[in-house]
Amino acid sequence: MKINENYLQLKENYLFIDIAKKVNTFTSANPDAKLIRMGIGDVTLPIVPTVVDAMKKAADEMSVKETFRGYEDSGAGYDFLREAVSDYYKKLGADVSTSEIRINDGAKSDCGNITDIFSSDNTVLVTDPVYPVYVDSNIMSGRKIICADSNESNGFAAMPDRSVHADIIYLCSPNNPTGSAYTKAQLEEWVEYAVENDAIIIYDSAYEAFITDPEIPRSIYCIDGAKKCAIEMCSLSKTAGFTGMRCGYTVVPEELIVKTSDGHEVSIAKLWGRRQGSKFNGVSYPVQRAAEAVFTEEGQKQIRENIAYYQENARIIAETLTRCGVPFTGGKNSPYIWLKCPDNMGSWEFFDKLLNEIAVVGTPGAGFGKNGEGWFRLTAFNSKENTIEAMARLEKLFNE
Ligand code: PLP
Repeated sequence: MKINENYLQLKENYLFIDIAKKVNTFTSANPDAKLIRMGIGDVTLPIVPTVVDAMKKAADEMSVKETFRGYEDSGAGYDFLREAVSDYYKKLGADVSTSEIRINDGAKSDCGNITDIFSSDNTVLVTDPVYPVYVDSNIMSGRKIICADSNESNGFAAMPDRSVHADIIYLCSPNNPTGSAYTKAQLEEWVEYAVENDAIIIYDSAYEAFITDPEIPRSIYCIDGAKKCAIEMCSLSKTAGFTGMRCGYTVVPEELIVKTSDGHEVSIAKLWGRRQGSKFNGVSYPVQRAAEAVFTEEGQKQIRENIAYYQENARIIAETLTRCGVPFTGGKNSPYIWLKCPDNMGSWEFFDKLLNEIAVVGTPGAGFGKNGEGWFRLTAFNSKENTIEAMARLEKLFNE
């Protein structure tokens, strides 16, 4: 018996454990302090009524012999949901057919599992700071990982270095943790780079619904040529509060064809379908019906109200930081606000200051990679009242 020793190369993920420890110490010493958590990356508003009704109706169908459903035949998701997703893509300006869409239990699984279909001698490029799943899942399979730096000078939007080769490129836009979103021109450059390198882009668009700027693409497939080099992963977690429901979708275009070492052409969609067919049995029927309801006219109206609520929080945070003269990215096309710690403070030093002096909790940027040191993530997923209160405390602190 031998374990996969690549797992021993994983860094211990202490970020949220260390945050919890510090918060516990603080609340024990200050039981009356009103703590405001601005570090959470989870949604807080409940599922909208149209979606809940659809799920209840589907649950009832499961209790009746004639409408009961067992395994779903294709494993790729019911046609009704894949058609709804395909129609949604049309509204974003992207042409994605139902056969290119696979329904999943959220973006995290596919972001990690997609690595199964690629050889372990590929070089993987991630932008740093980074959503840790991309890094960890490639360490597990023993791949070489290189970084493109996102930093203050490029507005936390890393661009490719044409002198460096990569085989697999993870992009996340709007970005977690930095809140920055790639423009069309920037994505065009990434697509060109991928084509030059015969590389595949894995594009995580989990936060696309937060984009307000019409010039910012909401899908990589708004870029010419992307269907030949990109896989897109999206999720209803942040779009429609599905973090506890679990549903997302991955697009693998039919045009995405690669060559094997002996020159044969292989369809990535086929390979991925084969992998999923063997290891994944699909998403529950009630959840897929609930997801379908997200894409109806009424569903869209209702989820947009929730997104608008978070966007207003993001605006309040951004406005406060602007008034205080604090450099930041995000907040406009994203629920995340990524701010520079004042006075050259380290991320953890600033974390301690906010916790101990104003009882506000955020996430130290250092937890997302080397370029995160000296930066700090706040999120818009709290109540408006708490956001206003936290920002009033922050502004007072900055003014002092
Ligand atoms: N991608 C990014 C960038 C995320 O921030 C998250 C969750 O926070 C996910 C993917 C995973 O989301 P889920 O698995 O809930 O769809």
